[in-house]
Amino acid sequence: MRPLIASIDLSALRHNYSLAKRCAPGRRAFAVVKANAYGHGASAAVECLSDIADGFAVASLEEAEQVRAVAAGARLLLLEGCFEPDEYVRAAELGLDVAVQGEAQAIALLESSIIQPMNVWMKLDSGMHRLGFSAAALREWHARLNDAPQVAELNLMSHFACADERGHPLNEAQLEQFVGLLDLDFAHRSFANSAAVLTLSAAHMDWLRPGIMLYGASPFAELSAAALGLKPVMTLTAAIIAVRDVAAGESVGYGAGWVAQRSSRIATVSCGYADGYPRTAPPGTCVVIQGRRVPLAGRVSMDMLAVDITDLPQAALGDEVELWGAQVPVDELAQACGTIGYELLTKVTQRVPRRYIGG
Ligand SMILES: *Cc1c(COP(=O)(O)O)cnc(C)c1O
Repeated sequence: MRPLIASIDLSALRHNYSLAKRCAPGRRAFAVVKANAYGHGASAAVECLSDIADGFAVASLEEAEQVRAVAAGARLLLLEGCFEPDEYVRAAELGLDVAVQGEAQAIALLESSIIQPMNVWMKLDSGMHRLGFSAAALREWHARLNDAPQVAELNLMSHFACADERGHPLNEAQLEQFVGLLDLDFAHRSFANSAAVLTLSAAHMDWLRPGIMLYGASPFAELSAAALGLKPVMTLTAAIIAVRDVAAGESVGYGAGWVAQRSSRIATVSCGYADGYPRTAPPGTCVVIQGRRVPLAGRVSMDMLAVDITDLPQAALGDEVELWGAQVPVDELAQACGTIGYELLTKVTQRVPRRYIGG
């Protein structure tokens, strides 16, 4: 078998969910498990959290079907609502909570002939300008949805654009928009993603919606997951599949852009960009072998990458290589590549087997 595995530490996932709850005592939290639980495997993540999570949140009906199959009774929120009018029937059958993010969705809901009424989350566009009603439109639609037969609980939600930037003026402005609707009668309110869970207690409301923090990565550029008390859930581990010595002046890899400045020992590692390792990793990016950091040598290939182990002479064929995890935080690699941990985690491809530990 190809030596490349994504180990998923389920005890870390539980730790991180509990940490989110401790940030906001007395509030409830939807564990956000969209995008296959940020690449970790939705079914396993949901099963692992099912006895402690208050609910789950996903991005589509297809994702909801998968979660429902392993969490029969759980509260399950469709974050963007239904994409087509005929999805409401299935959403109601599945007992979902649905976001209603605009007029078209509200009309489709009111025209649907669902048998069981659904919990509805009206989405306020408080400033991100992606989804949601304006405050004025929301007031009008609140009146129409409030006594609709299709609606069980009527709830309010909104989403931050800049919660990962502490002190950003839009955070205050969005909060103000939300609070401006406190006179409307809602069963529950929800506003906080991970960043707001961790640093904006005024936005905690009734239901949190933590995502990235559950997986042990940080939503902040300048605040590490470890400093936040989060434990990494995924460790991506490959192995050394070849070792060679190259003379000074020889090049390594595609494009021959990396040239040995001294006689060097090169290890070839069983992970490439078709597994989700970023091809944009710049020179100097490190992996860990035997607890020591060693730098990439040359470009990342589709199925392999090379590292310079000249300064780690004890490294040998078959040694484990951590691409990210406890020793190389995924956020650190992401930042070096000009992206965010969210993207690296969700882009680990299908061909990488997930192995669950700590369950
Ligand atoms: C993805 C998502 C979240 C979770 O965001 P994180 O930054 O991962 O915590 C919360 N709310 C909505 C509406 C989302 O789409």
